Amino acid sequence: MLEWTIGFACSLTIAALAYAKRSLTGTGAAAAVIIGTIMFALGSLVWFGTLIAFFVSSTALTKWKQKVKAKHESVYEKGARRDAGQVAANGGLAVLLCAADYLWPHPYWFAVFLGAMATVNADTWATEIGGLSKRLPRSILTWKQVPKGTSGGVSLLGSGAVVFGGLFIGAAAWLLQEFAAGTRVGAGEVAAAERIAALPMFTLSLVGGFIGAMTDSIIGAKWQVMYRCAVCAREVEHEWHCSESALLIRGLPWLHNDAVNFLSSAVGGLASLAILQLI
Ligand SMILES: [Zn+2]
Repeated sequence: MLEWTIGFACSLTIAALAYAKRSLTGTGAAAAVIIGTIMFALGSLVWFGTLIAFFVSSTALTKWKQKVKAKHESVYEKGARRDAGQVAANGGLAVLLCAADYLWPHPYWFAVFLGAMATVNADTWATEIGGLSKRLPRSILTWKQVPKGTSGGVSLLGSGAVVFGGLFIGAAAWLLQEFAAGTRVGAGEVAAAERIAALPMFTLSLVGGFIGAMTDSIIGAKWQVMYRCAVCAREVEHEWHCSESALLIRGLPWLHNDAVNFLSSAVGGLASLAILQLI
C-alpha cells in the first residue's frame, strides 16, 4: 500500500505542476497520474523515474522550442499541451511492460521498456532540436527537401538529437538503478539478477532509440494520415486547421500521430530486446 501512496503522491505533484505550466491538458494530467502511480507501485523507482526522465526532458525541450520558433507550431497536429491520447501513446506501452514484469519478472521486459522510452525521447528531441536546423529537412523516403515539421523529414541536427535522446534514457535508467540498488530506496522489483550493467544499458537505449525513431520517420512519411488545409494550403497532420476542415491528401485515415508514436516505440522496444540477446 505504501508504494501506491508514494506513487500517487509523486505522480499527482508532477502532473499538477505540468498542468499549471500548461504542458498537460486536464485529461492528460489525469492519464499521467494513473500511469505514474501504476509504474511506481508495480515497478520501482527505476521504471517510474525513467518515464519521468522522458517526460521532464521532452516537456522542457518543447517549452523551450515554443519560445524559439512559434511560427512553425501550426504544422503540428497538437500544441505543446499533451492530452490523454498523447500521454497514453507514450506511457501506455510502458505500463503494460511494467505490469508484465510485476507478474512474470524477467530482464526482457525492462529491455523492451528501455527501447520504447528511448524511441519516444529520441523522437521528441529530434522534433524539437531538429526543427531548429537552418536547412530544410529531407524526406527519409525520397531524400527530397520537405518543409519543416513534415512527418518523415530528417536532418543532421535531428539525427544527432536522436542519438543523444536515446542515450539520455539509458543514462537516466542506469543512474536510477544504481541509486535504488545502493540506497534500497524504491528498489521494488529490481532484484540483483535483473540489473543491467552500464554498457548494455547505454547500447540498448542508443540502438533501440535510433531504430525506433527511424521507424517513426518511415511510418510517418509513408502511412501517417496527412491533410491539406483549405485556407492556408499547408500540409497538416490534423483534419481541422485555420477553423476549417482540411482535405485528406494521403495516408491511412486512422493512422494519426499518436498511433505512429505507439507503433514506433514498440519497434524500438523489440530492437532493444534483440540487442540484449546479441550482446
Ligand atoms: Zn490552415
